[in-house]
Amino acid sequence: MTGSTPMATPSTDRETTTAPDADPRFEVPLRGIDVDPETRCAHWDDPVDVIALRFGCCEAYYPCDACHDAATDHEAVPWPRERFDESAVLCGVCRTTLTAREYLNAGEDACPVCGAAFNPGCRKHRDRYFEGEGPHDEDGDDDL
Ligand SMILES: [Zn+2]
Ligand SMILES: [Zn+2]
Ligand SMILES: [Zn+2]
Repeated sequence: MTGSTPMATPSTDRETTTAPDADPRFEVPLRGIDVDPETRCAHWDDPVDVIALRFGCCEAYYPCDACHDAATDHEAVPWPRERFDESAVLCGVCRTTLTAREYLNAGEDACPVCGAAFNPGCRKHRDRYFEGEGPHDEDGDDDL
């Protein structure tokens, strides 16, 4: 059973896309493996896994870092701190993009716009998605 969708969009295309192209179902550039209409993916498909995160390296959204690695051939770079006021998180339920700051400051693990529950586990590895402020000294970028 699916919940009520505000827009009556027929969701017939739940096919597996193999090509790592941007997904036409989303307004933002989004890629991943077995992405469903609410941005769950092959790796994270619990009811609460409904966000996609933007990466600093290629500026596209991915449901998770494993999707990033599968869809690209470069190392994932977390969203940079100096761009925390730019959209970097997509709520797959209402399709609203949140800035990194809005997401990180939301307090609760839920979409501030539609109230959809987000996976609280994401916080545990938020350093994969958002550049940390901490004592992590990063002088010079390590280009490999
Ligand atoms: Zn990338
Ligand atoms: Zn994934
Ligand atoms: Zn939402």
